Amino acid sequence: MNDLRQHFASLAVDGVRSIQPYAPGKPISELAREYGLNDIIKLASNENPLGPSPLAVAACQSELNDLEIYPDGNGFALKQALAEKLDVDIACITLGNGSNDILEFVARVFLSPGYNAVFSRHAFAVYPLVSMAVGATLNVASPNAADDLMPYGHNLENMRSLVDQQTRVIFIANPNNPTGTWLQSEELESFIKDLPDHVIIVLDEAYVEYVQEKQYPNSIPWIEKYPNLVITRTFSKVYGLAGLRIGYSISNPHIADLFNRVRQPFNTNSLAQAGAIAALSDHTHIQHSVESNSKGLLQVASEFDQMGLDYIPSVGNFISFKTALPGEQVYQSLLQQGIIIRPISNYDLPDFLRVTIGSEQHNDRFLQALKIMTGNKA
Ligand SMILES: *Cc1c(COP(=O)(O)O)cnc(C)c1O
Repeated sequence: MNDLRQHFASLAVDGVRSIQPYAPGKPISELAREYGLNDIIKLASNENPLGPSPLAVAACQSELNDLEIYPDGNGFALKQALAEKLDVDIACITLGNGSNDILEFVARVFLSPGYNAVFSRHAFAVYPLVSMAVGATLNVASPNAADDLMPYGHNLENMRSLVDQQTRVIFIANPNNPTGTWLQSEELESFIKDLPDHVIIVLDEAYVEYVQEKQYPNSIPWIEKYPNLVITRTFSKVYGLAGLRIGYSISNPHIADLFNRVRQPFNTNSLAQAGAIAALSDHTHIQHSVESNSKGLLQVASEFDQMGLDYIPSVGNFISFKTALPGEQVYQSLLQQGIIIRPISNYDLPDFLRVTIGSEQHNDRFLQALKIMTGNKA
């Protein structure tokens, strides 16, 4: 066994050998199988507790009649709907099998051995994965200090100092997962303006719809001003369509053209395209989802305050926190009670755990279990 393992590892390309596989949130079915539980809640993958829009579900259902037909490889109708909504040219849009797919296009188009990608420590785990897979070097910037206003968040100065002649990509998550920290419009735009034009800036806005802060950027108009900017967004989070795998980018059309060369011909499926179009039109559902999340953030943060727990203020649909107990112990103990959250030692935050904002009832169940465990009175 071990011989074979070493044998194949020796055949693998350099970057792949040192990759740590992505550790997803534990699926409900897996916990049910392992522990024999049936009343399980999952607050581990930043999914929308309200689910998708019923319009999206209906649109997917009607696609079921035509499953023998290949999807539109160009995703025209969805791209058109997005172009209209965002007021950009349709040639600026690229669809992905999740926005994760787009992050891979970026790496395959712009990174290779000898070049580097810059991102912050504690940034989204997929940036190192896609960069290493193509043999690029990782330039990991020090984050903000723990007592900063944006603790553990991206530090643009530190990121800038790692940009050199070999830098091809810089990944910025705004807000970042798992820290929930964010960058203001002014500081981010002057950072982008200042970058040399051999650097592609990926601005990952997976949680954009949730953010309520006034200083949060409206980045779409930047596409015209900064041709090296790629904005990525997704239907997995507020739209509640994580299972469909559909995301997109907005970029200069010449960058979209390069993405189009490396993507699979049918990278987004017909259900996903139809579901996403319908989801875009359901403004009420999005509004409810955002309101529910804002309430939930307050609910969880104020309980954390009362319990005296240390947490990172978040503008997303999740909060990372720590207790006096080891993170792994808290995680395991909650699992035994049918509550799945996420340990984030793989994000270099070994003491912290990340919890997704769920329904009021699910948040409550999580908070009660945590209180008992950490010795706090309810
Ligand atoms: C969830 C998430 C994504 C989106 O992933 P999909 O592939 O679109 O499901 C992208 N970036 C960040 C920071 C995320 O947390």
